[in-house]
Amino acid sequence: MQPCSTLSPKVTTTVEFEVPRCLGRYDSGCPGPLMLVTAGMHGNEPAGVRAARRVIEILQAQAIPLAGRVVALSGNRAALRAGERFLCRDLNRVWSEAELTRLSKRSPEEDDVEGREQRELLAAIRREIEDWPGEPILLDLHTTSGGGAPFALSADTLQNRSLARALPIPLVMGLEEGINGPLLSYLADRGSPALVVEGGQHTSPNAQGRLEAALWLFLVGSGALSAEHPCAQAGRVLLRKAAGEVPPLLEIVHVHRIGEGDDFHMLPGFANFDPIEVGRLLAYDRHGPIRSPQSGLILMPLYQPQGQDGFFLCRGISPGWLAFSEALRRSGCEALLPSLPGVAAVPHRKRCLRVEEEAPPIVWKVLRHFGYRKRVGEGLLQRRAERGECPGAGFVPCD
Ligand SMILES: [Zn+2]
Repeated sequence: MQPCSTLSPKVTTTVEFEVPRCLGRYDSGCPGPLMLVTAGMHGNEPAGVRAARRVIEILQAQAIPLAGRVVALSGNRAALRAGERFLCRDLNRVWSEAELTRLSKRSPEEDDVEGREQRELLAAIRREIEDWPGEPILLDLHTTSGGGAPFALSADTLQNRSLARALPIPLVMGLEEGINGPLLSYLADRGSPALVVEGGQHTSPNAQGRLEAALWLFLVGSGALSAEHPCAQAGRVLLRKAAGEVPPLLEIVHVHRIGEGDDFHMLPGFANFDPIEVGRLLAYDRHGPIRSPQSGLILMPLYQPQGQDGFFLCRGISPGWLAFSEALRRSGCEALLPSLPGVAAVPHRKRCLRVEEEAPPIVWKVLRHFGYRKRVGEGLLQRRAERGECPGAGFVPCD
């Protein structure tokens, strides 16, 4: 294994458990989907690991009837042992096609810490998919460095919306367009429903319970467990209370990316979904003060040394738009999309469009409402990220 060039000299050793790759597996012999649960993709987020273990222990101890199989896998085991987000590279940013190709061409001896983790995790995911005939569905459990209400993240597809509807927490869409290579995209790109749940602050005593609740309701949303099961009912009450008055559906409108050596420092006191007005001072880095470029609700303000995203801004989407976009997707008028300005069909590829970078913003919006989402080259994503923009160029649908 390659030594890690960026390993922090001070490694915190908050080992409280030795984490196996498979945290638990359960089915009651009934057909249904393969519900893959990943936890601890970031090593300083052990609440998801505990939550996944506990839910599977309860399923096993009570022999609860389940349609399908649930399997929980740990993410970054080395970082979990160290209590760090990652040791060399962020394990939740290495699932782009380019990174997967690099992994497959590299020999295992050349792997750094996260390369080894990814290789093992990918093999485990593929094995589980081969072992169970049902359709895979992903739930990836996380926590955040800032506090605030729990929320779910997904690509905007009808199947994801219907899965997320089982969880009474805000659903934030568009994150996969703002960050490159999350595990979520790996499954979503292969047509599987995939959801991330952020359960609250890393060390909050509430985080584990919220993630357990999210997992029970994920089983409901996957069609595996009755919505009337007592664990699901209790989870619904807990999450509804934790979500408070945050809008149920939101979209990411801005990402503040941290550059190499930026020395980013978020001002204290921000929590997920705090309202922010345009021009508000949010952080400092070596270039000076960082003010909000627009009004919105702040998401995932960064209060830990590791991480590439300083903060996100999102805004609510009205339920009317949601219903309208669902009707649009079922209307059949998708065939007209290539006649929009800046949009062209891609020859020999069904439901794939090429979109000019300069296409009017309304075009991006219309495409999103039809369930299309961005798939861009890394270079382009990087250039847009440097300009602090969120959407990319080139959409493919994932419905
Ligand atoms: Zn995380």
